[in-house]
Amino acid sequence: MAKKLSKLNVRILLIDKNNYHTFQPLLYQVATGGLEAENIAYPIRKIFRRYKNVFFRMAEVFSVNESEKKLTTNIGSIAYDYLVLAMGSTNNYFNFEKVKNKILPLKSLTDAFNIRSYLMQNLERSLLVKNVEDQEEVVNVAVIGGGPAGIEVAGAIAEMKKYVLPLDFPELNLSRMHIYLFEAAPRLLSVMSDEASKHAFKYLENLGVIIKISSHVKDYDGSQLILEDGKSFRTDTVIWTAGVKPVKISGLTQTSILPGGRLKVDGHNKLLNSSHIFAIGDIAACISDGNPRGLPMLAPVAIQQAVHLANNFRLLFSGKPLIPFNYKNKGVMATIGRKRAVVDLPKWKFQGGFAWLVWMSIHIISLIGFRNKMMTLIDWSISYFNYDKPLGIIIPTFKKSD
Ligand SMILES: Cc1cc2nc3c(=O)[nH]c(=O)nc-3n(C[C@H](O)[C@H](O)[C@H](O)COP(=O)(O)OP(=O)(O)OC[C@H]3O[C@@H](n4cnc5c(N)ncnc54)[C@H](O)[C@@H]3O)c2cc1C
Repeated sequence: MAKKLSKLNVRILLIDKNNYHTFQPLLYQVATGGLEAENIAYPIRKIFRRYKNVFFRMAEVFSVNESEKKLTTNIGSIAYDYLVLAMGSTNNYFNFEKVKNKILPLKSLTDAFNIRSYLMQNLERSLLVKNVEDQEEVVNVAVIGGGPAGIEVAGAIAEMKKYVLPLDFPELNLSRMHIYLFEAAPRLLSVMSDEASKHAFKYLENLGVIIKISSHVKDYDGSQLILEDGKSFRTDTVIWTAGVKPVKISGLTQTSILPGGRLKVDGHNKLLNSSHIFAIGDIAACISDGNPRGLPMLAPVAIQQAVHLANNFRLLFSGKPLIPFNYKNKGVMATIGRKRAVVDLPKWKFQGGFAWLVWMSIHIISLIGFRNKMMTLIDWSISYFNYDKPLGIIIPTFKKSD
């Protein structure tokens, strides 16, 4: 949106708590050693080098003062004429909130580093454990959440176990390592079609993932994962991909916030009851008769809203009426391992090797920067042929806490 707005005669201040943009759909690749962090992240200042009216401040926004048109941030107060909130979402741990320091979420680059380090630390540690059951606990991995992120991370770890670990850990009996995927709903990928769900199940099973559908996880004590039906699984590593919730910002009128925390916006992405605040992306719930629960928290929704709102600002500044936003569903996809994917387009659903090629092309095109696109293509091409993954270093070490 900042890029598009920069064509207007306005001064744009872009604020982010990080100095980089993250391409979240490929976080699982960093978490499982398939790509470097720099492939999927890009410094914001570098993106806007040539944009003379876009300014950047690295700051965390805490609250909005609607009447004074000011933001409170960790670097002080910032005034604005128009405000666009696009802070996205954060992990939602549901009943696992109390044990969140014992599990590993996958929402940021730091999370991805933590997962990679913890997997590697545990593999190293497992060689020192003599008792079979204790060793299993150290190397077992449980992924909670059978949505796109969960199946992608489970598939990548299963491939790592099959192709990479026998080379790197020849002393380890890998039949002791179990990769579990727990999903509360009766099927995987509930945001996608039945075909996609069935194919994803089959691909994951072929890779050796133990899939538990209709399985509500109830508790975790750092060693035992307990299900609602009383069954329990020993695992030291629990990866959480089971939900997100909108980032919270205080100071907004309560009537413009839905119970789940998303901001109520009208058809122009304008916050209800506000004349100068807009919201786009995961944080915004654009509710309509066709979408009573709001649009899905997906990248194409965020990008389309951003472009549309920038165009609407042009109309606003020239005193013309705004055009309502209309989401064009371009489809959803997910990949399982290095060769398989499932793709649901509005008029065509397909799975398998061709779907994987489509998935790969779209993800490479979506990365920011020529270097990132090329490096990703090279890394993936190499691992496609030699079945290896380039990265297994432990930086930083990760420790669970209470
Ligand atoms: C693991 C994973 C896999 C995904 N896979 C897919 C996929 O395959 N396809 C798909 O369409 N979508 C996918 N998504 C969802 C997609 O990434 C989001 O829908 C999209 O990024 C939303 O864009 P956004 O601009 O609303 O928020 P974000 O991209 O999350 O950007 C929000 C920005 O706000 C910053 N921020 C947050 N709070 C503050 C604050 N208080 N102050 C200052 N800055 C702040 C953050 O640092 C961040 O840079 C995935 C998400 C995850 C986590």
